[in-house]
Amino acid sequence: MDASSAAASLRLRKVVRQRLESLHRAGVTHLVLPEAAASAAAPRPGEAAASAPVEREVAPAPAPPSAGEDRVAALRVLQQEVAACTRCAALAGSRTQTVFGVGNPNPRVVFMGEAPGFDEDKKGEPFVGAAGQLLTKIIENGMGLKRDDVYILNTLKCRPPNNRNPAPDEVENCRGFFEQQLDILRPEYIVCLGAVAAQNLLQTKLSVGKMRGRFLDYRGVKVLVTYHPAYLLRAPEEKRKTWEDIQFLMRDMGLMSDAERS
Ligand code: SF4
Repeated sequence: MDASSAAASLRLRKVVRQRLESLHRAGVTHLVLPEAAASAAAPRPGEAAASAPVEREVAPAPAPPSAGEDRVAALRVLQQEVAACTRCAALAGSRTQTVFGVGNPNPRVVFMGEAPGFDEDKKGEPFVGAAGQLLTKIIENGMGLKRDDVYILNTLKCRPPNNRNPAPDEVENCRGFFEQQLDILRPEYIVCLGAVAAQNLLQTKLSVGKMRGRFLDYRGVKVLVTYHPAYLLRAPEEKRKTWEDIQFLMRDMGLMSDAERS
């Protein structure tokens, strides 16, 4: 097997494993393979053929997403799964809708926040309130990109009542969704906005202050941790630190000229 076939095989196995985990979380505990079904249905010598139909349902194994349409299709399937999710009964009962994520399906950088707030819950899109406007300014005025160039998602897909922090069991319920989302998007960089995103993505208890200013690693993707825009609105004196973090990211992305670096 050559290197590209081996890589494709690895990707396929990863997608199949994720799909099986997803089905397991959805309550599917048994799959009947076509060969096994055919063998079970075949009569032994001297036996009459079994009259009962043999279950032949097999979960389809999606091809590994690559770019463009494949990613859009994979994201759409996952989004439908999220929209039907009721694992956190309280959140599912109080939400207006799930808030999946938005942006470029082939992004260099993904911004990851905490959970939908009031405005996001109403609109079904992450970061659309006051904090979202600040994030857009960071992306467009600070980085010189368009909001549509990046992808934006949250750790949790449903709004916690009164904007409280997500509970640990809610994050664990939703972990498979954001992990699959990031696996489909396969960005070069993930910017974690605030402690909830950073601590749950990286599975650490470190504070934002201890994690910012360097790249951390998530499955081979460079992760930058900085403050959540909602926190910056409450503590504007911290905006300078976030701007330093964003400049650090821009330098690595090649978005700053030599003159700007000096
Ligand atoms: S927060 Fe995530 S796991 Fe919980 S109900 Fe919403 S989509 Fe499902």
